[in-house]
Amino acid sequence: MADQDDWALETLAIRAGQVRTAEMEHSEPIFPTSSYVFETAAQAAARFRGDEPGNIYSRFTNPTTRTFEQRLAALEGGECCVATSSGMSAILSTCMGLLKSGDHIVSSRAIFGSTVILFNKYLKPFDVEVTYVPLTDLAAWEQAIRPETRMLFLETPSNPLTEIADIPALARLAKDRGCLLVVDNAFCTPALQLPLKLGADIVIHSATKYIDGQGRCVGGAVVGNRELVGEGVYGFLRTAGPTLSPFNAWVFLKGLETLSLRMKAHCDNALRLAQWLESHPNIERVHYPGLESHRQHALARAQQSGYGGIVAFEVRGGQEAAWKVVDSTRLLSITANLGDTKSTITHPATTTHGRLSDEEKAEAGIAPGLLRVSVGLENIDDLIADLQRGLD
Ligand SMILES: *Cc1c(COP(=O)(O)O)cnc(C)c1O
Repeated sequence: MADQDDWALETLAIRAGQVRTAEMEHSEPIFPTSSYVFETAAQAAARFRGDEPGNIYSRFTNPTTRTFEQRLAALEGGECCVATSSGMSAILSTCMGLLKSGDHIVSSRAIFGSTVILFNKYLKPFDVEVTYVPLTDLAAWEQAIRPETRMLFLETPSNPLTEIADIPALARLAKDRGCLLVVDNAFCTPALQLPLKLGADIVIHSATKYIDGQGRCVGGAVVGNRELVGEGVYGFLRTAGPTLSPFNAWVFLKGLETLSLRMKAHCDNALRLAQWLESHPNIERVHYPGLESHRQHALARAQQSGYGGIVAFEVRGGQEAAWKVVDSTRLLSITANLGDTKSTITHPATTTHGRLSDEEKAEAGIAPGLLRVSVGLENIDDLIADLQRGLD
């Protein structure tokens, strides 16, 4: 792959990582095999000693999964990628591979709900503590760092309010204070944002979302340098086994081939929807980084090449009015999933953020009238008509 260094993202998404077999297949093959055979006893011994590279067992490596890993690494601009069985196991593998008892994490408060449970319920008993800070408050990040802080963790744009983290500023802070900056890039994907280029050390994906993009498979990935990901995270994965199946890797490979086109279309639809919502008299507020009214529009423009497919908005009239909008839809799916060709609508206060107390919700900006739409690839006029019914 001599030319790969010069290829643009769209080309890498279609071509990077493919190695043809003797059959000269055009599309990437799926290798449904748990183990591999050796030519001789000596070769088996050399493979097991690690003196000779090559396949041993599919908990460690699989050719289809490797193609996905190499393609995603090329897109994110990272040395190494490790594919995992889910986005959550990507986060778990990163923590298990890189942290030890006594370490401390500083995390954005606005992260995926299961990540909070992983940190608070499952890492804490191993004496890994987490301090939560507001995503956009740089001084709070700085103050929360202790001598034993090993990791800064965030998602940007945040869910559901689409707040933007200043990745270069947090990367400088992490470097100054000797910790790692870990960015969950599930909302933007490499088609819209390259955290490693902005100074982050590790990128995490839930491939379940936009990388598949069609709601078929659960999977994840970790991207970064050889030492952190190729040794640290991979070492945990090959031992503990939250490995991605080759079939799911193949689905994600096909997803990557259309990622750039799909993300552009998601962004176009989302901007159109956000602009329409902003002009509607029964809408109090719209949260979308592509709107000039978004507090961090300039930062989003500087660090992302598109504004993403997630739009949140506050309906006048609180929960009752918001539920009416949800229940009046005939096209949008009422589900908390996102990153699909199919548009989805969620009422965060009673679903994804339902466990929070009223004060915690108020502090997190989860108003009773707030709705989140993951804008899919249907015709935008149909989506607007579907929301208009409950709003008018
Ligand atoms: C969905 C999601 C996850 C978890 O991924 P799974 O594939 O469901 O395990 C993590 N982070 C973000 C931002 C997500 O949206």
